[in-house]
Amino acid sequence: GKRAFIAGVADDNGYGWAIAKSLAAAGAEIIVGTWVPALNIFESSLRRGKFDESRVLPDGSLMEITKVYPMDAVYDSPDDVPEDVKSNKRYAGSSKWTVKELVESVKQDFGSIDILVHSLANGPEVTKPLLETSRNGYLAAISASSYSFVSLLKEFVSIMNPGGASISLTYIASERIIPGYGGGMSSAKAALETFISSFPMFPCLIQVLAFEAGRKHKIRVNTISAGPLRSRAAKAIGF
Ligand code: NAD
Repeated sequence: GKRAFIAGVADDNGYGWAIAKSLAAAGAEIIVGTWVPALNIFESSLRRGKFDESRVLPDGSLMEITKVYPMDAVYDSPDDVPEDVKSNKRYAGSSKWTVKELVESVKQDFGSIDILVHSLANGPEVTKPLLETSRNGYLAAISASSYSFVSLLKEFVSIMNPGGASISLTYIASERIIPGYGGGMSSAKAALETFISSFPMFPCLIQVLAFEAGRKHKIRVNTISAGPLRSRAAKAIGF
């Protein structure tokens, strides 16, 4: 069977959970990466059976998550982590949650994966229109929502089996005005996308990644523009 790592699962309401279920139903082994600040509540809810109803697969069995890894996709290695985050008690309670350490742990535990799903985004100033967004807020949105995929793929590619696949989730706000999707999130999604159909000469992130990962490693790189879903992230911006 295939082994899938799904980055960005912290409850049973989002796309990450739904994708995990589809992959589990198709016979894949599921491992997930959960944002450090959300880890405790996710793990304890899982343990207490809070998600059991939504774990039910079409054949009646329950989706098993083989392992939950703490992660924060805005940090590549421990050197990148600022003091205030390091000493934050939610972060200090877990370890090895930077991207490089995470992939090293997955490698030690499982050796390889076949599928990488990037289902995470974060824009600290998402509720602000672009003209009121700070440079830091804008760059944080790009870092968490766009570069996080480059970073994960870059590290995971070395333990992905040939013929493997990676996927991320984007949103229509990259190409059309969606009021309320601010803080640089629309730009972050544009940077993440597969193609800019009207400007084919501008290679964007997914094309470049697909070219590089495909040529070097025989890994597919795609993004799906998902419809609106009332996930935790969507509720936070009043969608
Ligand atoms: P969600 O809240 O279920 O998922 C987002 C996840 O990102 C959360 O689990 C959160 O803990 C995690 N996260 C945030 N910052 C992180 C970080 N620095 N490191 C690691 N994890 C971090 O919400 P969702 O809406 O299912 O989002 C999943 C993906 O789908 C996102 O890329 C989102 O932009 C995209 N999407 C959502 C919609 C929608 O309407 N909900 C539409 C199109 C695309």
